[in-house]
Amino acid sequence: MAEKKKFQAIKGTRDLLPPETELWNRVEQTARKVFGTFGYGEIRPPIFEPTELFARSIGVDTDVVSKEMYSFPDPFDLGDIYAQYQLRESTTPGAGQLATIAGLLPDSQLIAARPEATASVCRAYIEHGMHALPQPVKLYYMGPMFRRERPQKGRYRQFYQIGAEVLEMVPPNQDPAKNIGKDAAVDAEVIEMVMAFFARLGLEGVKLEINSIGDRDCRPKYVELLRAELLKVKDKLGPDSQRRIETNPLRVLDSKLESEQGIIARLPKIADHLCANCAAQYTEVKRQLNMRGVAYAENWRLVRGLDYYMRTTFEITALGLGSQNAVCGGGRYDGLVELLGGPPTKGIGFAIGEDRLILSLQEAGKGGAAQGRDVFVAWMGEKTQATAIAAAQKLRAAGLRVELPPVEQKFGKALGQADKLGARYALILGDDEVATGQWTVKTLADGSQTKMSEAEFLEMLRKGL
Ligand code: ATP
Ligand code: MG
Repeated sequence: MAEKKKFQAIKGTRDLLPPETELWNRVEQTARKVFGTFGYGEIRPPIFEPTELFARSIGVDTDVVSKEMYSFPDPFDLGDIYAQYQLRESTTPGAGQLATIAGLLPDSQLIAARPEATASVCRAYIEHGMHALPQPVKLYYMGPMFRRERPQKGRYRQFYQIGAEVLEMVPPNQDPAKNIGKDAAVDAEVIEMVMAFFARLGLEGVKLEINSIGDRDCRPKYVELLRAELLKVKDKLGPDSQRRIETNPLRVLDSKLESEQGIIARLPKIADHLCANCAAQYTEVKRQLNMRGVAYAENWRLVRGLDYYMRTTFEITALGLGSQNAVCGGGRYDGLVELLGGPPTKGIGFAIGEDRLILSLQEAGKGGAAQGRDVFVAWMGEKTQATAIAAAQKLRAAGLRVELPPVEQKFGKALGQADKLGARYALILGDDEVATGQWTVKTLADGSQTKMSEAEFLEMLRKGL
């Protein structure tokens, strides 16, 4: 006999089950509705893409690309490599050799399960020539992302994001200073949209933080200044921050280490080192947010983990999430499309962590009730089954949730089951009801029972919907 094997979901992945999936659906439907009112259309990019697409856009020195990405050779390409090896060496490669070959493959021969979707949206914008459409192009997406992180509350290896991007090709010879006001209004509307979505869901404890991280002009100078200042206090920093002085000094600002907080507080602030254009845009973003009634706090230490961000960056936290409390991160990324081979294009977008959004709603008691049924059809006697089926068909066509037992049940058992399923009504159909056309309807909440015609029953249910 074959050995019995118990399968389990892979570490960091999980099954989403009813009734929780009802909440997921409500969240996603609300996103579609709200984003629709702002003129966004949905894009569904593929789940896997060339590894290079992410390496180039997110940046090779980021955590996401350097250690979290599920990147692998396409098994069919490995088949080719296998065959070539056989031809060349006149012998088959062993598993070890194959693994070595696979490990040596350059990024250009690898594919990756997407760790985020902004890069995909930009690729699609270029691939489908969307710069020729009326600008800006406003897109939203939702779906699973993959990152190899240590699983914990609010952190999974397969997680879900709901995000949106606004892309706008820059016409040739445009003076960048001229459009600062327009860009700021676009930034503010994007933020306003996320906040409207969260408000519609009733998300609690929502806090928006904003910052400007400068652009190609002023940020490199600030980063150098920061590096120089950090080098002066190097011995007082932990190993992570010490390493980041070289690789990515901005990330030191993100440190949560208690011992480093005092040191970080005395570092130079980017707001004091923005170039004129960045400073003007940042001021205008704040004015625009005020005009839209969006409350925010400024956080000069807010830097984003992905390389492509510039100027406006923001993060939103919500109630009940512990240390993993960021539900949304976003920012402006002018130049990313160009970096990926497209025309000069401006971009701004955000990604919401849907898993964390759901957790926060549940913590606040906004998880919603179990699915339940409107009607449980308790039918008795072989001849009543046809009537029961016809009744169920009509009720379902009217949009009601109906449970129809596949075989007849004794009265007591049927009512017990109706109760367990949380049904509002039990429709009791026996020989008598079929003969007279008068149905027995039991209201499960109070146990009351009345007789009525099919039409009267439907009418009553419609009113109650
Ligand atoms: P964190 O600092 O929490 O790792 P991040 O900066 O890596 O977040 P982004 O790349 O900005 O996150 O992604 C946007 C949002 O996606 C985050 O604010 C978070 O809500 C969610 N998110 C990111 N990684 C995960 C994960 N592994 N599991 C669940 N949600 C995640
Ligand atoms: Mg992360």
